[in-house]
Amino acid sequence: MSEDTKLQISVDQTMCPVCQNRLAFDPILHHMICAYVGPSSDFVETTDGYICPKCRRGIASSDPACEIVGTSARCGACGKEMIVSPGASGA
Ligand SMILES: [Zn+2]
Ligand SMILES: [Zn+2]
Repeated sequence: MSEDTKLQISVDQTMCPVCQNRLAFDPILHHMICAYVGPSSDFVETTDGYICPKCRRGIASSDPACEIVGTSARCGACGKEMIVSPGASGA
């Protein structure tokens, strides 16, 4: 609902555009059961997969109800989150 506040970076960018520190990358997961979309770091890791932060259901590691829809980047230094735009080449 406030997605417009997130920065977009290109796939080859590995440094934070705000403070020039190294970024950590996370896949963005879509939980089809409750329509939650968020980086995998939002999901609680368990021994056999994840727990959805919205509906609190367990997600097995290769659960067909959960798909990867993109990549997010997060700066450990300033805490800024970014969306990695899909590359124009390849695919
Ligand atoms: Zn869910
Ligand atoms: Zn930063």
